[in-house]
Amino acid sequence: MKANTEPGTYDVVVIGGGQAGLSVGYYLRRSGLSYVFLDAQAEPGGAWLHGWHSLTLFSPARWSSLPGWIMPGGASEYPGWIMPGGASEYPGREAVLAYMFEYEQRYDLPIGRPVRVTSVRARSDSLEAVSDSGIWQGRAVVSATGTWEQPYIPPYPGRELFGGLQLHSAHYISPEPFNGKRVLVIGGGNSGAQILAELSLVADATWVTKRPPQFMPDHVDGRYLFDLATRKYMAEQRGDSESLREVVTNNLGNIVMVPPVKEARERGVLHSVEPFTRFTKTGVVWPSGREERIDAVVWCTGFKSALDHLDPLGVIEPDGHIDVVGTRSVKQPRLWLVGYGEWTGYASATLIGVGRTARSTVEEIAAFLRE
Ligand code: FAD
Repeated sequence: MKANTEPGTYDVVVIGGGQAGLSVGYYLRRSGLSYVFLDAQAEPGGAWLHGWHSLTLFSPARWSSLPGWIMPGGASEYPGWIMPGGASEYPGREAVLAYMFEYEQRYDLPIGRPVRVTSVRARSDSLEAVSDSGIWQGRAVVSATGTWEQPYIPPYPGRELFGGLQLHSAHYISPEPFNGKRVLVIGGGNSGAQILAELSLVADATWVTKRPPQFMPDHVDGRYLFDLATRKYMAEQRGDSESLREVVTNNLGNIVMVPPVKEARERGVLHSVEPFTRFTKTGVVWPSGREERIDAVVWCTGFKSALDHLDPLGVIEPDGHIDVVGTRSVKQPRLWLVGYGEWTGYASATLIGVGRTARSTVEEIAAFLRE
């Protein structure tokens, strides 16, 4: 039987059906509460639907799993495994999509899609999620809308003048359109490194970063990072400043040496230059004063949380975040936020990390609704 997703009143309305939403769903199933999911995408997968085709996970499959069901691993099970140089234990985007598709079915999660919630409004005893296709009322609302819909491009002198192609990594799909072109890849994080690695195979690509990029040692991957984040969390809980000092010396934001990035290093292309001074109509001017023609710029400059739908609640602070204790909004006690990044829990923007905050969120909601 198809699970009910009709407009109406539920104990919990979850906005967003990406990895964060699904993790919350896993725990809601066991809570005895009524619930529904509203997701703007036409199919399962959240942001992974839009990732570039060669996007490689930081972690092996076992370490990229949502609660309850370990991601199956191995080239024979999913066609999308990426095996640069012949072999890799790191799943690719297609593997994650297949996993998320099956996860929804396995746990029979009631997800209405495509449903875009345009606003959330407060009523006396509930919050209501308003969309073109109806109004859903929740005694509690979980917002799990991710960051993909809010790509961030920093202000840059003359950017509006530049006549070449400008693309954010959110919309980068594959290197073919850049064949033979002169391209700048801007941004010193994981997206910048992975896209530079791929573009440099077909284009004349230069990597532009504010500071020299920082790389993880080769043996560090998502599995190691998750362990580190867990140790940091435990040390903080215990108030153990000695262990905390040891753990925070490892910067969790450094670039992970996934196979394509290692391969780019072997080709000698994994180095960056300082930012240019300004754009011109046809290119850029470098700090030396030299002008250069550029065909395209790929901005790998990150994302902000997609929170516009919560604007009517008056909970969004000037810096774009929402004040939370754990994952619960301080200003709106019926609202929880899951999956956006460190401000909503350690490693909560990762497949494996979001399970922890999803569980505590559902426990809190259940306790609140019982009161
Ligand atoms: P999303 O996946 O964005 O899901 C949110 C959903 O909510 C979407 O379907 C969206 O359409 C919907 N939505 C948004 N607004 C509304 C609205 N108003 N109404 C209804 N629906 C709405 N993570 C890992 O775990 N391991 C990795 O190895 C890894 N590698 C990465 C590598 C790179 C280069 C990058 C950029 C990211 C990587 N990530 C990785 C992170 C991961 O891609 C994202 O953090 C993750 O997709 C976030 O999940 P989410 O559920 O919070 O948001």
